[in-house]
Amino acid sequence: PKRHIKARIFLPHLVASMEEVEQTYIMIKPDGVQRGLVGEILSRFEKKGFKLTGLKLFQCPKELAEEHYKDLQSKPFFPKLIDYITSGPVVCMGWEGVGVVASARKLIGATNPLNAEPGTIRGDLAVQTGRNVVHGSDSPDNGKREIGLWFKEGELCAWTAVQEPWLVE
Ligand code: ADP
Repeated sequence: PKRHIKARIFLPHLVASMEEVEQTYIMIKPDGVQRGLVGEILSRFEKKGFKLTGLKLFQCPKELAEEHYKDLQSKPFFPKLIDYITSGPVVCMGWEGVGVVASARKLIGATNPLNAEPGTIRGDLAVQTGRNVVHGSDSPDNGKREIGLWFKEGELCAWTAVQEPWLVE
């Protein structure tokens, strides 16, 4: 929210569009890291025109994986999901942009990669739900919640990209 205030002060011509600026948490899961897909996946969000606000390689502790996926606690696949997410390092990313939450979900594709459209990350790079290479927040509220969960203060950067006027009118 502080970032919005800054943008209003320094970029008054962007005020209308800044209303829809959102934050989302994107995570390259352990299979994406192991398969050498970090650059490929990161690049898709970068090329689309979203702004990276946080980035780290991180071995996720079990407690954090459980907190992140707490809504799925009652699902039969929950223990397997926690094993998967903690099975190796993940890449944690914060991305910012106009409509970034829903747009990132579209770039990622359906949960089951066999149902994901070609051109999406899961459609192009994965085959199984239990190995679907990437996570993306499902709502702006969850975007904020998950960024707060995975990043400490000081690990995120508020910055102005020179390309912004060429992406948002
Ligand atoms: P998404 O990641 O597309 O938002 P969900 O929130 O429904 O999907 O599920 C979170 C994650 O849990 C999925 O990305 C996947 O890794 C795992 N998952 C979901 N359903 C299953 C399943 N039936 N079997 C194994 N893993 C699953």
